[in-house]
Amino acid sequence: MSRLSQPELQFALDAVRRAGLLAQQIQGEMVVEGVAKGDMSPVTVADYAIQALVGRALAERFPDDVLVAEESAEELRAEAGTPMRALVYSYVERATGACTEAEVYDWIDRGAAAPAERFWTLDPVDGTKGYLRGEQYAVALALIENGQVKLGVLGCPNLGGDFNGERIGSGVLSAAVRGEGAWVAVPEETILSPHMPPMQPGGPVGAAEPLQFSQLRVSPSSDAHQARILRSVEAAHTNVDEVDQIAHLLGVQAPPVRMDSQAKYAVLAAGAGEMLFRLLSPKKPDYKERIWDQAAGSIILEEAGGRITDLCGNALDFSQGQTLKRNTGVFASNGTLHDAGLQAIRQVCKI
Ligand code: AMP
Ligand code: MG
Repeated sequence: MSRLSQPELQFALDAVRRAGLLAQQIQGEMVVEGVAKGDMSPVTVADYAIQALVGRALAERFPDDVLVAEESAEELRAEAGTPMRALVYSYVERATGACTEAEVYDWIDRGAAAPAERFWTLDPVDGTKGYLRGEQYAVALALIENGQVKLGVLGCPNLGGDFNGERIGSGVLSAAVRGEGAWVAVPEETILSPHMPPMQPGGPVGAAEPLQFSQLRVSPSSDAHQARILRSVEAAHTNVDEVDQIAHLLGVQAPPVRMDSQAKYAVLAAGAGEMLFRLLSPKKPDYKERIWDQAAGSIILEEAGGRITDLCGNALDFSQGQTLKRNTGVFASNGTLHDAGLQAIRQVCKI
């Protein structure tokens, strides 16, 4: 990992580790304490709190850089007097040290910027349903320059070193830098663990203990029959029937592995799967992917030797604002099986 020592990567690794820890903390405490009522879902609290945490870290480390993320503080500000505000504030304050509510809103609102020549994109909690179920989710942060993803970090707090997305593990941190490979740290207990020191207000970001990384490589398999197919748990995020038809056409016997979030890309990059289909849900035939749902995962997969395109085989175009509006769906693979997957898509899907 020595070639990956640039400040941007160190910043992103540290921010994602801390964000993952905060996500775990909120999940544990809100469920245990039974605070979640009505709209006060732990995932909403985590979304806001993590965006504030990363917004703050970015303001400190790269003050001129733009952040493009899902949340804005507008609704939170309007929630005057509700427990939601107090909860978000208390979690951010615990994670960052003394701060004011106004500062927390400003940190969140750093993420409401429009994409620029160089910008970061964040999904604070990708796979919200997985987070709520206690299954797979991810914190995803990527740096985009001139429409190209340059660096990505994925923190998957519930993924294990076996990269089996249907089991709960103790956390995996994956990262990639364009042209320099993809790497993973699977902790004994150091990553995303409660031993992380709280971020010091005004102090350097990056005070966490060093991580041990190993290189990610996709599966070398060229046997479509044996392909392990990954897809969303949520039927509304893909076309389940068409995924099954594609599997059948390819002669795949095993049922698709169902996983929430970009953790699927970490699994593919680690060689624990061969194909990932994001087909269009029949209920949302015009759906356009959000950049924060694809940026970090896509570079990690590509730098591990995999391929990612839309359903027609076109490269994902990150130069079009907040969505991949020039692309339709996503197909990702270990590379070797990409053409076979695209051919099956052409036969099955109406695109
Ligand atoms: P996954 O966990 O892989 O199902 O993907 C979760 C992401 O899917 C969320 O972050 C949403 O932004 C995104 N999403 C929401 N609606 C759709 C849709 N109709 N098709 C594809 N993705 C969607
Ligand atoms: Mg998401």
